[in-house]
Amino acid sequence: MPGMGIREQAEEIEMSMAHEPERVLLKNTGHRTLVPFGARKFGEDFVVIAGPCSVEDASSYLETARALRAAGVDGLRGGVFKPRTSPYDFQGLGREGLKILADAREETGLPVVTEIMDPRDVELGCEYADMIQIGSRNMQNFPLLREVAGIQKPVLLKRGMQATLAEWLNAAEYVLAGGNNQVVLCERGIRTFESSTRFSLDLSIVPAARELTHLPLIVDPSHSTGRSSLVEPMCLAAVAAGADGLLIEVHRRPAEALTDRLQQYPLDLFPRLIDRIRRTVALVETFAQDPAEPRLP
Ligand code: PEP
Ligand code: MN
Repeated sequence: MPGMGIREQAEEIEMSMAHEPERVLLKNTGHRTLVPFGARKFGEDFVVIAGPCSVEDASSYLETARALRAAGVDGLRGGVFKPRTSPYDFQGLGREGLKILADAREETGLPVVTEIMDPRDVELGCEYADMIQIGSRNMQNFPLLREVAGIQKPVLLKRGMQATLAEWLNAAEYVLAGGNNQVVLCERGIRTFESSTRFSLDLSIVPAARELTHLPLIVDPSHSTGRSSLVEPMCLAAVAAGADGLLIEVHRRPAEALTDRLQQYPLDLFPRLIDRIRRTVALVETFAQDPAEPRLP
């Protein structure tokens, strides 16, 4: 629905489609969905997930996981099946990487999220990970959506880089319609004409989605900007926009990272970043004590 405002898109969803995505709409449930993740709940707690783009080897991953745990993250990330533009680039460690993720969870007590690309790997992913990520390039991989609809684990559904809110919500609808309502949305930037950032982080989608859906929504400041120097401001802005959490790429030696080098936030600076995120969350939470929200058209 190019050229349409978010309200028109919402109306499009509600009125023109043969089937509106009924299960994801807030107006049909009247309450927000909480999605458990380790000791936290998306939708109730502000959930910070961090870790390298890819699991590269056991010792560096475990060292990173320990430091992130000490800094106070709520969960760990790490890709083992990587969606790479070139078939000659590092593709991820696969099953070996899943074992490393499970070891990190065992050692830190933190839940782990990892991307699955192939419907045939969903069962394997569920054996090791606490949450299954559907990447931007697979948001409309319908067989994959149907597969994760049948699992008992939460799903992190990233926005397709060319997807409208209506398309994104319909992708989530596939998962809910198949019986799994533990879905968390993740805004990760969209393709625009702007080329100074990797993608354009669409922060206005955060409050726009909140008006329509009961599903929690987190923001990925790493893939959206593609540059570590832009990560902190976008983290803080995402909190102010009402996000339920963040997914941040962190590496102990960004310059040596095997994937997405320029956007890896340096591990040694991460404690300062998460402190600023938590302080911003605390500030925004004080707004809840303000008089009732004005109703705007
Ligand atoms: C990722 O989070 O590892 C990833 C590949 O992100 P995206 O699907 O948003 O590009
Ligand atoms: Mn990455």
